[in-house]
Amino acid sequence: MKIDFSKANVFDKESMKGKLSSLEIPSVSDFSCFDFSTYDILPAFIDVHVHFREPGFSYKERIATGSQAAARGGYFAVCTMPNLNPVPDSLGGVNAQLEIIKRDSVIKTLPFGAITKGQNGLELSDMEAIAPFVCGFSDDGKGVNDNSLMREAMVRAKALDKIISAHCEDGSCIKDSKEAEWKQIERDIRLVSDIGCKYHVCHISTKESVDLIRDAKKSGVNITCETAPHYLTLTDGDKEDSGRFRMNPPLRDKIDMDALIEGICDGTVDMIATDHAPHSAEEKGRGFDRSLNGIVGLETAFPVMYTAFVKKGIITLDRLVELMSLNPSERFNIPIDSFTVYDLNEEYKIDPNSFATMGRSSPFAGNSVYGRCLGTAINGKWAYLSERLKKDI
Ligand SMILES: [Zn+2]
Repeated sequence: MKIDFSKANVFDKESMKGKLSSLEIPSVSDFSCFDFSTYDILPAFIDVHVHFREPGFSYKERIATGSQAAARGGYFAVCTMPNLNPVPDSLGGVNAQLEIIKRDSVIKTLPFGAITKGQNGLELSDMEAIAPFVCGFSDDGKGVNDNSLMREAMVRAKALDKIISAHCEDGSCIKDSKEAEWKQIERDIRLVSDIGCKYHVCHISTKESVDLIRDAKKSGVNITCETAPHYLTLTDGDKEDSGRFRMNPPLRDKIDMDALIEGICDGTVDMIATDHAPHSAEEKGRGFDRSLNGIVGLETAFPVMYTAFVKKGIITLDRLVELMSLNPSERFNIPIDSFTVYDLNEEYKIDPNSFATMGRSSPFAGNSVYGRCLGTAINGKWAYLSERLKKDI
């Protein structure tokens, strides 16, 4: 069966038509009687930074619930960070995670391998052994502080043609300071310009980080970066004494938010990731100071960005799709074979109790947003199908 996409309000930027060719002939007959003209069809999204907590911490999130949350947000693929138990630093660790993914994931869940053993920053992981099974290497949650170890990791990642996705936080700086972030980015830019490996910076949050990455790109360094919706829409001044405003890096000043927005507009920032990091209600219920770092984001990222950026005319819908789908696809070699169905006109209040993720902590709870995800089809099959869309099929 073939969908007549010509009737649909399909995102159809010329540059991505080739990449979406597989969408023109979905194989599932379910789609044949579906009137696409009343909805907005977008290439499904990719989040290169999520925490699905399994194996090891299934009381916070499971691969089943995390991947369902992703599908409900319009995502078809995510890259999971390695702060797990066991840590995916060897074949055994990676396989433990892959088995759960195979059993429970409703989307493409692609694990990062750890850069260092146990993420301890002291000794490199079995990078060669795990390379064929991971989307890249990261020690997310911690910076790799030893310069020569990071250099060696980059040399080996380059030989393996794998990307390094770095959580930049210099342990010699004051915890949570802006300096801790940008100083390590500065060091890594020096290393990458020398070694030439594929290098990506996680969740940038400061003006200095944007400036450094902009300059590095101008001099041809092989670098990309992500930021998250909360750094683009909230500042330190917005936070309340609640765990739902607690994350690492923390919310910054307006000058930083404005610099990130400029980076989104001028191409310095390549992609939006959520850093979806669920915790239990108890771990997030200790007030701002004592709650653990991390908020959930998969079910709110697109509506928050669409409402704050596209509806307000700061960026186009095309640019948002680049940031959430096309750019991560290209940088992380994840072909787009999936689409998501949105009603961009539906306005509603974000209600964490309706989330599929086990996490409930969101700084956007109660916010009014536009854009309701009604379904996400991956490779010809629905990974998520809302009741409303079911009636139309
Ligand atoms: Zn991180």
